[in-house]
Amino acid sequence: MHADEMQKRCSIVAACRRMEPLGLSHGTSGNISVRHGNRLLITPSGVPYDSLSQEDIVSIDYDGNWQGVLAPSSEWRFHIDIMQSRKDVNAVVHGHPLYATSLAICRREIPAVHYMIAAAGGATVRCADYATFGTQALSVNVLIALRERKCCLLANHGMIATGATLDRAIWLASELENLAHQYVISLTIGQPHILSDSEIAKNIALFENYGPKKQPEDAG
Ligand code: 13P
Ligand code: ZN
Repeated sequence: MHADEMQKRCSIVAACRRMEPLGLSHGTSGNISVRHGNRLLITPSGVPYDSLSQEDIVSIDYDGNWQGVLAPSSEWRFHIDIMQSRKDVNAVVHGHPLYATSLAICRREIPAVHYMIAAAGGATVRCADYATFGTQALSVNVLIALRERKCCLLANHGMIATGATLDRAIWLASELENLAHQYVISLTIGQPHILSDSEIAKNIALFENYGPKKQPEDAG
């Protein structure tokens, strides 16, 4: 096996082990995929994360043909469809975290209750219409909810976060759950204030330049 594929398999296993401590999954819920050329590396179906090893990760092509000891995640359809339709995405994380899923059970999208919603790529996090898990119908609904967005909720099911890297997808999944938690608590206190679309657009622009910066080198 090529070193690059081995490294990606190890990074998926490491990310899976972070899912429960980050509150992103419970039991065997959730799944992760990473783009690998014209294939995907994806978690197997129904295997608890703490017993997962890199040999268990499944390689699957865009037609759903897979190679491996174990069968791929039952959600391979939306993982493939997201990677095919979104060239900006190289990793997909799906989970059933408590607060995001509670909002999804009420089929409520998340409005701009905090500027961090800019990380989602727009002023709302949409909730994809309900369809049975593992179906092509669910995949169609997911692609609609993800238009111009990096994450979404899934009605009566959970959430999806995407990223240019697996680290970014896990980071966004955790930020989404935090945002959902804040929204649920604020709804119990009173009437949340919603930031304007123009304010969120400003934050999206600021995010492009956000991050640790070094002191510029002395030009003299
Ligand atoms: P898998 O174990 O098949 O990945 O399914 C878990 C899940 O969350 C289905 O939506
Ligand atoms: Zn699920």
